[in-house]
Amino acid sequence: MKKSTDSGLATKCIHTGDTLDERGGIFTPLYNHSTFGFPNTQSVLDVVEGRVEGSLYTRYGLNPTIQSLEKKLAAIEGGESAWVFSSGMAAESATFLAHCKSNDHIVCIGDVYGGTYELLDTNLPDLGINTTFILGDEVNKLSEFIKSNTRIIFFETPTNPNMEVLDITSIAAVAKQHGVLTVVDNTFATPVNQKPLELGADLVIHSTTKYLGGHSDLTGGTVIGPTDLLTPIWTWRKNLGQIMAPEVAYLLARSLRTLVVRVNAHNSAAKILAKQLVEHPRINKVNYPGLPDFNGYSIAKHQMKGFGGMISFVIDGDAKETADVVDRLKLFSIAPSLGGVESLVTQPITTTHINLTPEERTKRGIVDSMVRISVGLEDVEDLWADLEQALN
Ligand code: PLP
Repeated sequence: MKKSTDSGLATKCIHTGDTLDERGGIFTPLYNHSTFGFPNTQSVLDVVEGRVEGSLYTRYGLNPTIQSLEKKLAAIEGGESAWVFSSGMAAESATFLAHCKSNDHIVCIGDVYGGTYELLDTNLPDLGINTTFILGDEVNKLSEFIKSNTRIIFFETPTNPNMEVLDITSIAAVAKQHGVLTVVDNTFATPVNQKPLELGADLVIHSTTKYLGGHSDLTGGTVIGPTDLLTPIWTWRKNLGQIMAPEVAYLLARSLRTLVVRVNAHNSAAKILAKQLVEHPRINKVNYPGLPDFNGYSIAKHQMKGFGGMISFVIDGDAKETADVVDRLKLFSIAPSLGGVESLVTQPITTTHINLTPEERTKRGIVDSMVRISVGLEDVEDLWADLEQALN
């Protein structure tokens, strides 16, 4: 119905990919069907052989609800195409498997989600795909870590839980010199705040479970980028059976319609709370890319439009006293996820980073007294009152 390739982000979030259904419903309906019928053999062959875009079989992603969502996701990240997956980890694993073969190598920069670390450190080596993990402050020596068999440079920015900001443009430039793909997990920032493809990345990955879904009620993932890089990923998704369920695709498209207003509200509330946390006498350190004194601020200012809804901070206290603060919070639920309308809190050593050795944690500055919050859309005064009573 509405074509919105030249329109703004909010317009794309609402209209791109959507079609009027035959009864006039104003966006793409939920097609829960596992398969689609054809009037004759020629028309089935046209779809199977790729001459005509159509629906065929849901596990292949050839389902109108899924195809409509993929157009929307591609448009909002500024990519040519998008594939959706049953989870963020499914999107990551299919991407690594499609672009790395046995004896290939990956460089992973900075902190990444614990599941990603486990996939790269434990599962992929079984297939002969090995990863070198480098710290964010080693990025100026990136070329030294790239080998002749390196295929992918992978990172998140801002990172979890230190909120370290990595310079997408300069990393992608080094990767290009070496003929290596730059793959960025944009889950924390979202396309409202940061567009990695415009900054030189080759592929963008999201756990759509987080901000894109936005209501803590769906699990999904996506990979977005140029079609030639996505095509090899498609067969892995198909044959590993990693497709997003149509119900989830419908729910995610519903959520994306409000992405811009939600993320802008997360940005403003987090900025207010980050400033208040800096002033609090019990806080030793606040990690938030939007604070002018924060290490990554100058890069963040250059590559991000807003600074996101994630904050981590270090309390003056030990692990137990930190857990006590977390336990006293009433509005913030203790949960390891992020990006929903409700505020969440976690002590990274107890959840997201529990599997890292104490040495790995120390190397990465993940201390016992660190708390990570995902700032939701409650009234910011209520959130501050809750934090204040828990800290006092
Ligand atoms: N990437 C990031 C930054 C994450 O935080 C997560 C999960 O927490 C993932 C990827 C994995 O996503 P999922 O849980 O949807 O598989």
